[in-house]
Amino acid sequence: MKYNFSGVLKGDAEGIYTELRDRYLTCIESYDCAQVVKQFYIRIINLLHQEFTSNDVNTLYKELALYKISINVPYIIMTNEIYGLKNLLLSRIAQNNDSNKILNLITLFKEVNNGVAYVYLSRYTKDIYTANNNRLSSLSDLLDKDIIIKYYEAHLNWLNDLAKHINDFEKNDFPELDEMQCDFGLWLNNHAKKIIQNNSKLKALKQLHNDLHMFAKKIFLNLKTSEYHILISYLKKCEMISLSIGTELALIDNIEMNKRMTKDNLTGALNRNSLELIFKTQYELSYATENSFVLAMCDLDYFKKINDTYGHIAGDKMLRFFVEIVKKHIRSSDIIIRYGGEEFIIILSSIQKEEGFQVLEKIRHAFETATLTVETQKIQATISMGAMWIKPDKSYKHSLLNEYVMIVDKMLYCAKANGRNRIEAI
Ligand code: GH3
Ligand code: MG
Ligand code: MG
Repeated sequence: MKYNFSGVLKGDAEGIYTELRDRYLTCIESYDCAQVVKQFYIRIINLLHQEFTSNDVNTLYKELALYKISINVPYIIMTNEIYGLKNLLLSRIAQNNDSNKILNLITLFKEVNNGVAYVYLSRYTKDIYTANNNRLSSLSDLLDKDIIIKYYEAHLNWLNDLAKHINDFEKNDFPELDEMQCDFGLWLNNHAKKIIQNNSKLKALKQLHNDLHMFAKKIFLNLKTSEYHILISYLKKCEMISLSIGTELALIDNIEMNKRMTKDNLTGALNRNSLELIFKTQYELSYATENSFVLAMCDLDYFKKINDTYGHIAGDKMLRFFVEIVKKHIRSSDIIIRYGGEEFIIILSSIQKEEGFQVLEKIRHAFETATLTVETQKIQATISMGAMWIKPDKSYKHSLLNEYVMIVDKMLYCAKANGRNRIEAI
């Protein structure tokens, strides 16, 4: 179909572009990028001033979408721009009272929006595929261990199949739609009951998995209508739910690990021997589920003085007392390890920075204000910590643990130098 708005579009391309830029373009681009974008819009607006086909505009917009993707502009911002130009043109045409032209413009921009959505969707499905493969290879190191996250592998493969199907549904089958029949669903509804003791955790997992399949069914139905912008939203939902499933499984694994690993006899904290395995697992799982965690090195202040003043037995009790207080403030999926004499490592899994540091601060404060009674003596102590928030962006490599321990050690040293009974964190 041929369009022609030349008689009704008031204003030159520069003028329309300036209004579009001021009202609808989000300036997240550098000056150079903004110039490239401007040239695209000038070409698009000039085209609208002549006789053209929707294909002409779509081709230009798709080129623009590819450019926007290359400079990491999100889909939502791109659609805002499309609606922006549509609204500007509509307001100009509306003054003319030509309802046919108004309808034409609405149809045209619907097509443009869908064309751009298609470009973004193609890229998004490829991104999911790449990210999932990285997650899979990151998990593969852990899969021979006695952990349930290995079932997440089946789930990631399912999501890969979904992305592959959307990208090229001629060639690739749609993954299993029935939540009871996919590999992960089969496990979740049978063996998982024996492994996951916590009923509410199992229920939460099933709910997430059901939601995921519900969105997959919506994708299946919408594929026929070629409404690509809807597919982007549903696929994003699927990816988010998928990461939540991974996080839930990782937390269950941590709870089990806490039960299984050998404990330090004196304090009940985990033994230092487990540190490397625990840290590596934590790191890989965080990477695979796009999550983050907090690592903290803790050291009791002037502990030698406590031993000297109250005796070694009282010192031992103080160490146990500290671990008890920590356990009161952390979740069953968090970890405390006795690193050395009066030094401990705390790992808070699946946590954001501020939230994690707040938990540590609560521990510091609770310990400072608590009193240990040994026979008739009332003893108080304080703790210093060095902490770091870690959000893995690549899979684990040997020596990473040492690097992070060195950093939190340095932070701990700063906490000591800055007066003790405090946390230094990055
Ligand atoms: P700072 O604030 O600089 O950390 O001072 P500090 O006195 O805590 O540090 P220092 O390293 O000088 O002393 C640590 C003390 O912890 C020395 C050691 O005897 C004591 N310690 C280590 N392990 C144990 C243990 O298992 N039980 C007891 N009671 N004391 C321990
Ligand atoms: Mg020490
Ligand atoms: Mg000390």
